[in-house]
Amino acid sequence: MATKKERELIVAKYGGRCAYCGCELVKGWHVDEVKPIRCKKKWDPIKRKWIHDGTCRYPKRLHIDNQNPSCASCNINKHAMSLEDFRKLIGGFLTSLNRDSTQYRIAKRYGLVVENEKPVLFYFETVEL
Ligand SMILES: [Zn+2]
Repeated sequence: MATKKERELIVAKYGGRCAYCGCELVKGWHVDEVKPIRCKKKWDPIKRKWIHDGTCRYPKRLHIDNQNPSCASCNINKHAMSLEDFRKLIGGFLTSLNRDSTQYRIAKRYGLVVENEKPVLFYFETVEL
């Protein structure tokens, strides 16, 4: 868990924007570990669910050099993925929308949605540091 001072440094990395989608961060933004820390979980037989035991497999990754400011949506979708797996996930959204969403296909036919197939670039890859 990042301290208040560390959070200030992390959010300043990209001028208060999400490192991934580039949206302006609002209260409740997340700290993402670029290389996942892999939280350890153990089974709680009373609650009947997996709970974090407060430790992780890669504790050295809990460092500002490996931490990015993230909106909740990007952080939740990235979860414990590597950067390249997250890029593949986002890159596959057009395929899944065309396959699974009638509303999306209709909106596309009516010109309300225009697809823009291009490589997925994260915001932090587009800005000068
Ligand atoms: Zn985002």
